[in-house]
Amino acid sequence: EAKSAGGATFRFFDPSMQAAVDASTSLETDLRFALARREFELYYQPVVNAMGLMVGVEALIRWHHPKQGLTGPGAFIAQAEKSGLIVGIGDWVLQEACRQLARWGGDAATEHFTIAVNVSARQFRQEDFVPRLLEILAHSGADPRRLKLELTESVLLADVEDTIARMTALKEQGIGFSLDDFGTGYSSLSYLQRLPLDQLKIDQSFVRDMLRVPHAASIVQAIVHLAGNLGLHVVAEGVEEEAQWDALRSLGCGGFQGYLFARPMALAELAGMTEEEAAPA
Ligand code: C2E
Ligand code: MG
Ligand code: MG
Ligand code: MG
Repeated sequence: EAKSAGGATFRFFDPSMQAAVDASTSLETDLRFALARREFELYYQPVVNAMGLMVGVEALIRWHHPKQGLTGPGAFIAQAEKSGLIVGIGDWVLQEACRQLARWGGDAATEHFTIAVNVSARQFRQEDFVPRLLEILAHSGADPRRLKLELTESVLLADVEDTIARMTALKEQGIGFSLDDFGTGYSSLSYLQRLPLDQLKIDQSFVRDMLRVPHAASIVQAIVHLAGNLGLHVVAEGVEEEAQWDALRSLGCGGFQGYLFARPMALAELAGMTEEEAAPA
């Protein structure tokens, strides 16, 4: 700014601005060491079917910050993207998720579980994203057909040709694709028939409002129909109330995720749940 103003410039010192810069710098510094210090952990949130049975999980990253304690992705993913650190972090997430997938694959009670992993724009566009993921999968011994990648509209549409090429290469190995937070983007729907997707995830904002705001219910209904007509699975996010679950089921939605069923949880806690579920009746 000082430059563009040319000649004589007035710089007003704004302490709050400096504080914001300091905060993001120290966040970045902390992030830079977090991988080596093993401060990240994957939490897992169950995805259930219309009968309420667990069919898989979504992996959601958590950061055990040395001072702030357990921290959710909202506090650091954007900064990780901006700094490029997301590439290493995302790589770790994929390794960890595939390791877990392989463990479940060895047990009859859990071998059908899928793991969904969120992939950020910068990570997906890495030159070697496809071969690297295939390497991670091969090394882990996980079944690629049980791995789903979640991408948002903005990631998918940033470069459609490149996106289709990457997706196609991964789909040939059996990997599935979900369009996350569906309904919150603003693009034309025509791309839906071009992208080799498997699933739409209805954004939680529509689920939250669907029983109170008629427009939200209409949007949910439209998404479920659209998915059905395009041959895509559909998962509703943010299901918190039984009445929402009922309404979603009667619309024909087939997958559900939300606090009504379970919060994202550490592996040990999830293991307790899957053992319960696997226990003979
Ligand atoms: P998302 O992929 O849309 O994940 C769903 C978010 O909704 C999660 O927040 C989850 O904890 C929350 N959620 C689940 N059920 C409910 C519910 O019933 N009510 C409400 N209010 N919220 C619910 P979380 O874990 O904070 O993650 C936020 C976002 O961070 C994710 O949104 C995803 O975009 C991103 N993210 C998470 N893990 C990763 C990761 O490993 N890599 C990347 N690149 N992004 C990640
Ligand atoms: Mg997601
Ligand atoms: Mg989402
Ligand atoms: Mg989201």
